[in-house]
Amino acid sequence: MIIKPKVRGFICTTAHPDGCKAIVKEQIDHVKAQNHTATGPKKVLIIGASMGYGLATRISAAYSSGAATIGVIFDKPASGSRTATAGWYNTAAFEQFAAEDGLYAKTINGDAYSEEIKKQTIDLIKKDLGKVDCVIYSLAAPRRTTADGTQYTSVLKTVGQPYTNKTINLKDNTVSDITVEPATDEEINATIKVMGGEDWKDWIDALKAADAIEDNAVTAAYSYIGPDITHPMYADGSIGKAKDHLFETAKQMTAEGSVKAYISVNKALVTQSSAAIPIVPLYISILYKVMKEKNVHEGCIEQMCRMWNEKLFASEPVTDDEGRIRMDDLEMQDDIQSSVHELWKEITTDNLDTHADLEGYHKDFYRLFGFGADGIDYESDTDQNRTINSL
Ligand code: NAD
Repeated sequence: MIIKPKVRGFICTTAHPDGCKAIVKEQIDHVKAQNHTATGPKKVLIIGASMGYGLATRISAAYSSGAATIGVIFDKPASGSRTATAGWYNTAAFEQFAAEDGLYAKTINGDAYSEEIKKQTIDLIKKDLGKVDCVIYSLAAPRRTTADGTQYTSVLKTVGQPYTNKTINLKDNTVSDITVEPATDEEINATIKVMGGEDWKDWIDALKAADAIEDNAVTAAYSYIGPDITHPMYADGSIGKAKDHLFETAKQMTAEGSVKAYISVNKALVTQSSAAIPIVPLYISILYKVMKEKNVHEGCIEQMCRMWNEKLFASEPVTDDEGRIRMDDLEMQDDIQSSVHELWKEITTDNLDTHADLEGYHKDFYRLFGFGADGIDYESDTDQNRTINSL
C-alpha cells in the first residue's frame, strides 16, 4: 500500500517500513563511522528498545562494542490496512541488519512492567546468553499496571503552583501562553510509580534472583534537567519527582552492591514522548536552531554513541560531582543557554521562522515514524507487513 503520515495530536498513527529501515541504517552507519574507544559490555539488555534513546543505545551497544542485544519493546505488527508501529519496523530492520553483520539480536514484545515479560526475557537470557553484563532502562510510558492489577497514569504537571509560559501549537505553528496546573499528590505518586525507579529495580532484582546478570554489571536509566524556563514543568514538576526517584534508586542499587547503576542526563530531543510535554517542544525548536548554528547539534544516535564510547564505557565512567553522566553538557553550555534565553523572551507566532528551527522540529517528528528519509519514494507501493525475525 501507499503509506502517508496521519497525525493525531502528538502522534502519527501510521509508520513507513522502508523509511524506518533507512533511518535505522543511518544510525548504524553513524556508529560504524566513529572511533570506538569503548571495549564495553558484550551482552546487553535494553528495556524500551524500539524508539528514541533506547533504540539509539541498542545500536550503539551492537555497533560500538559488538554486543549481543536483547530488546524489550511494546509494539504492534501491521494488521489489515493498519501499518505496524514505528517501533515494530525499527526493530525488524535492526534485527535484519544485525544478522547481516553477524550480531546476535533478539526481541521480546510486551509490557515491560509485567512479571510475564520479565520472566520471558530472563528465560531468553538464560537460554542464549547465560547472563547479561549491562541493562539499559529507557522506558517512557504513560501508564503502568502493577501485579495487583492497579493502573497508574503519569501526568505532566507542575508541583505546588500553576505555571504559565509560552508553548507552541504544532498543528498551526502558533505561539501562545499556556498555564500548567499543579498535580495532586495522587497524581504525583502515580507518576513516580510509572516513571520512577521501582520497575527498574524490579528488573535488576529479578535478574539477580535468576542469576542472569553478571557481578558488577552496569545499568543505566535516562533523565532530563534542562533550563529554568522548563523547570516548573519538568525538573520540578511531577515528571521531575519521578526522575528524582529514579536517581535515588540508582544510588540504592549501587549501594546494595553487585551492579553499578547510573543516570544519564540526556539532551532534549524530539521523540514520541517529549512531543507531549507542554512548553518543551517550543524550547526544543529554539534549542535546535541555536545548537545547529553553533554546529553542536546532536540527535539520539550521536548522544548515545558518545555516551557509550566517551562516558559510560570510557576507561572510567565520566560523571558530574553527583555521579551522573551528563549528555546534556553541550545543551547546558552558557553560550547556548543565553542565546536560547534571548530568543525565548522575544519569540511570538510572527517571528517563529527566524527564532526557532520549526522545520527541524517537524522533520524530526515525521522521521520518528519513518517519513522524510532520504532515498525513499513515498509515492510507491510497499508491503506494510514486516517480520521481526526473533518473534
Ligand atoms: P520514546 O517514546 O522515543 O521511547 C520509549 C520507548 O519505551 C519506546 O521504545 C516504547 O515502545 C517503549 N515502551 C513504552 N512503554 C513500554 C512498556 N510498557 N513496555 C515496553 N516498552 C515500552 O522515548 P524517549 O524520549 O527515548 O525516552 C526514553 C527515556 O529517555 C525516558 O526515560 C525519558 O524520560 C528519557 N529522556 C528523554 C529526553 C527527550 O528529550 N526525549 C531527554 C532526556 C531523557
